Amino acid sequence: MSERTQVGIVGAGPAGLVLAHLLHLRGIESVVVELRERDYVEKRVRAGVLEQGTVDLLTEMGVGDRLAREGLVHEGLELRFGGRGHRIALSELTGGRAITIYGQQHVVRDLIEARQAIGAPLLFEVEDVRVGELDSERPSIAYRHGGERHELRCDFVAGCDGFHGVTRGAVPDGVLTQLEHEYPFAWLGILAEVPPSTDELIYCNHDRGFALHSLRSPELSRLYLQVDPDDDVERWPDERIWEELHTRFATDGGWTLNEGPIVEKAITPMRSFVVEPMQWGRLYLAGDAAHIVPPTGAKGLNLAVADVRVLADALAAWYESGDDAQLRDYSQRCLRRVWRVQHFSWWMTSMLHRVAGADSFEQRLQRAQLEYVCSSEAGARTLAENYVGIPD
Ligand SMILES: Cc1cc2nc3c(=O)[nH]c(=O)nc-3n(C[C@H](O)[C@H](O)[C@H](O)COP(=O)(O)OP(=O)(O)OC[C@H]3O[C@@H](n4cnc5c(N)ncnc54)[C@H](O)[C@@H]3O)c2cc1C
Repeated sequence: MSERTQVGIVGAGPAGLVLAHLLHLRGIESVVVELRERDYVEKRVRAGVLEQGTVDLLTEMGVGDRLAREGLVHEGLELRFGGRGHRIALSELTGGRAITIYGQQHVVRDLIEARQAIGAPLLFEVEDVRVGELDSERPSIAYRHGGERHELRCDFVAGCDGFHGVTRGAVPDGVLTQLEHEYPFAWLGILAEVPPSTDELIYCNHDRGFALHSLRSPELSRLYLQVDPDDDVERWPDERIWEELHTRFATDGGWTLNEGPIVEKAITPMRSFVVEPMQWGRLYLAGDAAHIVPPTGAKGLNLAVADVRVLADALAAWYESGDDAQLRDYSQRCLRRVWRVQHFSWWMTSMLHRVAGADSFEQRLQRAQLEYVCSSEAGARTLAENYVGIPD
């Protein structure tokens, strides 16, 4: 079956769904094709920290009602090291900007509901997706759905299919430059059915390794432990996880960590990855399809949203006036933010993790950096303005 649309979007993660809705608001048609089933996509627990700019955009798009009701606005965070906590006053340091805790799966659910409410095409459980003729004026997305083969002809293809998707691989060899950095640690993340032990996120540097206390709701805590990249989740029974969390979060003044049933447990490796440019022919890569950041800066989802905001504006300009200047500038404009965010994520990761084999000199440098950020307004502001998100 042969079909036609203006923009073909591969992937219904945050990037693909935000792009589809932004285009709809500009009167531009799109079709979204997604490998997984709806239920799986809506329950996939990943990121949970939304920058101010992401919240503002979702609100302007008209998909922010539940976010406004259920999102938890945080105006600060804690850095904990040497048995003491230090508050970074995010909002005071950034003219009132803040972060909002709202799970990625909820963002995705809200966007899917909005898409369905307008009756626009969003196909789940699509198989064997292939993109082609990307260097022509009529690129295509071929796929199988409901037992039939389809070919979708588009003006543009948006590759929003994440790090393991197919669109990036459709670019001929030698066009894209891949820049990568592997970190010598991973995060063991848990979701626990217990009220958070803190009102604000705690980023903890400890001799035994990094730990993070985050949350998803007033009833759900999200906690992370730095582990080795080759560690196995089977080696981490619940009792061992809680014991290690108690040890790393302990303060001189005494602090209580609430325990509860662990309902999810997974180890995620850490890497930085960027392709340059983020475009070839009529294929535009966005989000994790083009870049991965370590989660320490809480930026993956926010970066995906920032990319598609630029892409939607550029496509709208092209459809409105035939002007392709913004499309030509897409990659360069996104990469400026990507590299700022890569640096911030690398900086946070280096400042907070325990590097195996680090000598005393390197450990003292790390402590000096932490103390500077917590004692100097300039140091704290650098963290705060990057964490809440640098405006365009
Ligand atoms: C396990 C994990 C934990 C994370 N935790 C955090 C965190 O704590 N904090 C943080 O800031 N960030 C985190 N991230 C990063 C953040 O979730 C991503 O940056 C964000 O999801 C990027 O959105 P995206 O839309 O670009 O990609 P994705 O969310 O990956 O969406 C891509 C979509 O494309 C679909 N797809 C893939 N291949 C195909 C295909 N061939 N055809 C059609 N569809 C396809 C996928 O099923 C998926 O729905 C985490 C990521 C992972 C993997």
